[in-house]
Amino acid sequence: MSDSTSSTEAPRGLAVLGATGSIGTQTLEVVRLFPDRFDVRVLTCDGNVELLAEQVQEFHPEVAVVGTEERARELKRLLSGEAVDVRVGTDGLCAVVARTDVDVVMAAVVGFAGLAPVLAALRAEKTVALANKETMVVGGTLVNEVLDRNDAQLLPVDSEHSAIFQCLAGESERTVETLILTASGGPFRTRDAETFDDITVEEALDHPNWSMGAKITIDSATMMNKGLEVIEAQRLFNVDVEQIQVLVHPQSIVHSMVAFSDGAIKAELGVPDMKVPIQYALSYPSRWPAPHERLEMTERTRLDFEPPDTNKFPCLRLAYDALEAGGTAPAILNAANEAAVELFLDEQISFLDIPRLIEQVLDRMSVTSASTLEELVATDAEARQRVEERAAAPSN
Ligand code: NDP
Ligand code: MG
Repeated sequence: MSDSTSSTEAPRGLAVLGATGSIGTQTLEVVRLFPDRFDVRVLTCDGNVELLAEQVQEFHPEVAVVGTEERARELKRLLSGEAVDVRVGTDGLCAVVARTDVDVVMAAVVGFAGLAPVLAALRAEKTVALANKETMVVGGTLVNEVLDRNDAQLLPVDSEHSAIFQCLAGESERTVETLILTASGGPFRTRDAETFDDITVEEALDHPNWSMGAKITIDSATMMNKGLEVIEAQRLFNVDVEQIQVLVHPQSIVHSMVAFSDGAIKAELGVPDMKVPIQYALSYPSRWPAPHERLEMTERTRLDFEPPDTNKFPCLRLAYDALEAGGTAPAILNAANEAAVELFLDEQISFLDIPRLIEQVLDRMSVTSASTLEELVATDAEARQRVEERAAAPSN
């Protein structure tokens, strides 16, 4: 039975890319709930080989991938006695997702590094559960072309996109009026904008509702996360920019909504818990009973919604502008953001420098209609370099 915790179907081969991260570890929590449904074949990380070694010892994948040769040696040392093939870098990731024993790929690498393995998995006609939103921001057009040409499937994991995907089930595309993405507003929603230059890394990493990796937590504080999600939604659901609306909803209970042409609005609600959208992407089109925390409606006295303030959070405006500019503009936006967030986390630039640097680089780089991965890699590298140069310049 498709809705039972144990299954009579053969287990599906699973690759978890970014297994040591926030989404990766929660994916493995879901796998622990349904041990008969998955055979974990691939686990990957960048540098956290200690945690990866523990995961390999628990899930016994055929192959592990890490960032460098040195980390591969370290992992093998930690795993002496465990029969696991260890591969390295982007080439390793692209090769392992195409293995014949892999059916489903959880794409939970953070940043631009996630794009190449997702393209490789789709070309190998796998089902990809996509957490890595940067993939759709940078390479959404390319991803959609690959999806058109191959018998692959792409399922959203990002909570807003999972919510919209669920609201769209059984509906005709033609009847969709607006996709309404909800945003928590992050930790600085009510903070006086005059004090934004004093924001510390610690304050920005303290998200009110969600516990996530460092990069996306900073993106939530600047609201670039919502900007990236607007672009992700446009690429995933093929709607016009004007059909995407953002509403700040501080309780993070309504994960997103769809408004239809007859005036009806559908919403998906729940407590903020990424295991629910992770599991839905893995169980789709079924739902599996699970002990995730339930939403008690009577305990929630209010659900608030307000328009976002793009003067206070210019990253959201920059993302809309990049989406409208098209071509490589979203790739430039994404790379500049990744570089700026890294510099902020390293305490080399201030919070307000993040949008400032992104805007400067977007203004100065020419937008082209890049259509290959190689061109996107070059655009990404150039935008990063420009951010680093400007950040190092005395009067950036
Ligand atoms: P984390 O930083 O927690 O984890 C990232 C994972 O990717 C880690 O396993 C990390 O390895 C690995 N990794 C980092 N850089 C590289 C690289 N260059 N090459 C290969 N692997 C790499 O991120 P999250 O889990 O928070 O986010 C993952 C993705 O999911 C992001 O795109 C994010 O936007 C998206 N997402 C996350 C949500 C969340 O709740 N966390 C919600 C919605 C979307 P190591 O540990 O060794 O560094
Ligand atoms: Mg999200």
